[in-house]
Amino acid sequence: MRNMAMRPCLAVLFACIALRAHALEPQQQLALEIYKELIEINTVTATGDTARAAEAMAARLRAAGFEGLDVQVLTPAPRKGNLVARLRGNGARRPILLLAHLDVVAANPADWSVEPFKLTERDGYFYGRGTSDDKYMAASFVASLIRYRQEGYRPDRDIIVALETDEEILDRNALGIQWLLKHHRDLIEAEFALNEGGGVGLKAGKPIRNSVQTSEKVSLTYQLEVIDRGGHSAVPRADNPIYRLAEALSRLSRFRFPIRLNETTRAYFERTAELESDQTAADIRSVISSHPDAASLSVMRLAANPVYNAQLRTTCVATMLEGGHAYNALPQAARATVNCRIMPGEPPDEVKTTLLGVLADDHIAVRQIGETVLSEPSPLHDEIMGAIAKLSAEFWPGAPVVPVMSAGATDGSYLRNAGIPTYGHSGLAGDIDDVRAHGRDERVLVSSFFAGHEYLYRLVKLLAGGS
Ligand SMILES: [Zn+2]
Repeated sequence: MRNMAMRPCLAVLFACIALRAHALEPQQQLALEIYKELIEINTVTATGDTARAAEAMAARLRAAGFEGLDVQVLTPAPRKGNLVARLRGNGARRPILLLAHLDVVAANPADWSVEPFKLTERDGYFYGRGTSDDKYMAASFVASLIRYRQEGYRPDRDIIVALETDEEILDRNALGIQWLLKHHRDLIEAEFALNEGGGVGLKAGKPIRNSVQTSEKVSLTYQLEVIDRGGHSAVPRADNPIYRLAEALSRLSRFRFPIRLNETTRAYFERTAELESDQTAADIRSVISSHPDAASLSVMRLAANPVYNAQLRTTCVATMLEGGHAYNALPQAARATVNCRIMPGEPPDEVKTTLLGVLADDHIAVRQIGETVLSEPSPLHDEIMGAIAKLSAEFWPGAPVVPVMSAGATDGSYLRNAGIPTYGHSGLAGDIDDVRAHGRDERVLVSSFFAGHEYLYRLVKLLAGGS
């Protein structure tokens, strides 16, 4: 009897705990409402409506007291919206820019286990397209701006929030960050910017690092082509476009660009050595201690890890291949696509010269496809890195702050090229082996969402000063 009676009591107790876990502080409630509103507006780059999302955020800011030129929605094309809002400081220092993108990658509802354009809370996660990339940051910045205003906070510098469109296609049509830089530079002019690109890495639930992205490799694509007169396959000749191309690609597969470290990758490897096993840590220390020889054993061992290899050097890799037109004909053409990721500061012309030397065949025509966006690394500024280290130690004790260079690309490169140093830093904690941005069932830990928002809210205050 007694046991029977216990059960309902326990059930009630657990229900109480569950309820308490969901009772949110007003500032958490606000951030969550904004997040939900953003997730539930479809902003897929090609088919969605970022103008609607920008208007929705502007309406919230106006309702909170932002007015006139301090909150603007700029729509360079139908369905394409950018929002810029400003909390005025006392002008003692130059502004800080908080950048996030409103657009998201497409999501096919049939592939997902939940509705992608609806915020769903399940098993301790928030699910929905854009929950991590990048509506967490967009929602967090808008919620912080409203909180600052409610508190009567007066920073030493203006705090600018810019929510842009078309990041997911690297602003190919120049309607997002490039358009803002070209037509409204005055609205986003800042001493430096915070952007996506770095977060808190969790391993088995434990924070192992807090990343600050300060630079990006430059993507550059080449088409290789060999043309020949062809003929009947019954009468083969020594010269064959497929063989020529294959041999050149084989030479490329064995080639390694020289090691080139910069301030960011050097710091990245220093911190990483502290987390690595004995042999790898020793290899890392040997590589960063001197001018490393690409043929040395420690470099070879380190470069066997593709992630480390991408941080050590420029890479060029074959990504596509085609050739021939019939099973019984000698090929008239063979083509390959080679994608290079160039270390920041390395001239693309030099890479092309190296590539031609490696392919070592005058019959192969090498042509660049598309444009390159060069990217200057942002300096590891003491004040910014110091504020991050201090606050990070409070939120994720023991997890080192690690500067990183992305092998991929974000809009940060446009800002850096325009002379605004940009730091990719989100405060959003997620499992390093469960990255779902751009993929199915994109999700964010509920606890990470609230902790990250609080972190960004406080970090911006630390960086903006004032009272
Ligand atoms: Zn993104």
